[in-house]
Amino acid sequence: MGRVPETLMNLPIKLISTDFDGTLFAEFENPPIPAHLQTLIGELQSQGARWVINTGRDMSSLMEALARSRVSIKPDYLVLVEREIHLHHEMQYVGVEEWNVECHRAHEQLFVQVRKDLPRLISWVESQFKATIYEDAYSPFCLIAGNNGDADAIHAFMEEYCKEVPHLQVVRNDVYARFCHSTYNKGTALAEISRRLQISAENIFAAGDHLNDLPMLKKQYARFLAAPVNAIPAVKEAVRSQNGFVSELPQGHGIAEGLKFHLLQK
Ligand SMILES: [Mg+2]
Repeated sequence: MGRVPETLMNLPIKLISTDFDGTLFAEFENPPIPAHLQTLIGELQSQGARWVINTGRDMSSLMEALARSRVSIKPDYLVLVEREIHLHHEMQYVGVEEWNVECHRAHEQLFVQVRKDLPRLISWVESQFKATIYEDAYSPFCLIAGNNGDADAIHAFMEEYCKEVPHLQVVRNDVYARFCHSTYNKGTALAEISRRLQISAENIFAAGDHLNDLPMLKKQYARFLAAPVNAIPAVKEAVRSQNGFVSELPQGHGIAEGLKFHLLQK
């Protein structure tokens, strides 16, 4: 994994970081990940570029979606739940323990306070909205709001609560939200992977469509930015304002166009 092939010297993009849902993957399309995008990423990988799927999904849900999509290519790295890093090694994905153990410890420490305040948070939400709230392995408070309007209101409430707890942040994707530690997001995870691979932001491509992608859609992490037409306005604005490429095409078709656009730039 450590060796960078000679041919890669010619490629402006040496590391590709893509969100999954709404960026690569369109659940109701067939195939959900366009064949021409798979071919393009596969060609770049064969020339030495590395590919990261940088997602809010956890391992089992991502693996299931990839298997159902019958993808022909394999990501070199995964960022799961916007924070854990896994490396493709000998047919499987292995956690990058140095990062993941510290990430887990930081979250557990942070969530001690959140757990104490849970009854207050839950009763506020339940008094005003029909929403699903649950605890999973990654956050004591996870939200699925009934619609994006409710999600906006609950998100604002969660942000207000975050002011009480140092390092606490909300990670939001569509009607889903949970708490996280401010040190860990798609951007810092991408920076850690690029540090390990010794690839600078100058040679990194990042693409996403929703709020949880904003932390990685930054020049400090990736010079080449792209978004599909279905991206939310805040993402399109972030990408445009940093000379990135906003496609008129949806999901994976838009990302293929974004990759080609940047590959042709010199
Ligand atoms: Mg997405």
